Amino acid sequence: MRRRPFRLRPLRPRPVRPRIPPVVQRALAEAQRLIASGKFREAAAIYDRLSQEAYARGRLRPGLHMDLEAGRAYLQAADVDQAQKRARRAVQNALQIARPGLVMPLVEGITRHLEAQGDPEAARSFREEIEALLQEQRVAPGGFIGEPRRAPRKTLPGHCPACHAPLRPDEVEWLADDRVSCPFCGSVVVAD
Ligand SMILES: [Zn+2]
Repeated sequence: MRRRPFRLRPLRPRPVRPRIPPVVQRALAEAQRLIASGKFREAAAIYDRLSQEAYARGRLRPGLHMDLEAGRAYLQAADVDQAQKRARRAVQNALQIARPGLVMPLVEGITRHLEAQGDPEAARSFREEIEALLQEQRVAPGGFIGEPRRAPRKTLPGHCPACHAPLRPDEVEWLADDRVSCPFCGSVVVAD
């Protein structure tokens, strides 16, 4: 039997850091870099690929997270059609995990974008379409029902330190006032 070295320091609870394949970490870090340099379409393509890979493995929550990021990146590239496609798919998957509210920040971003473009008609019809999708699934009438949003008391890092996926205060699960669970890799991320 091998002996372990004697620990001098007391064990303290450390944030859980699941092992993320390096190739995925690199892809997410690259997407982060592309967004920062204004290459939104290229970043969207990475998020798209990661969402497909996650869905293919039946991992709805990470896939949804990547769909939302792809939609947001397309919106930043002013490609509303692609952003809407991602939002529609995200609604279906968010309903499957009973978290329709997760899609609303993207839906609201798209409607604001259409209104700012001077197309309130398109904004209204998109909003109605999403509401209809939610109604079909017997989400309570009134449409935009989500999980209660907690106002974060502390500042979340913009990206998960373990996997580099973007973190957004209103799209993550707050485990406590100072920590969230990364929707992509499941790491516990501490806010300060
Ligand atoms: Zn992560």
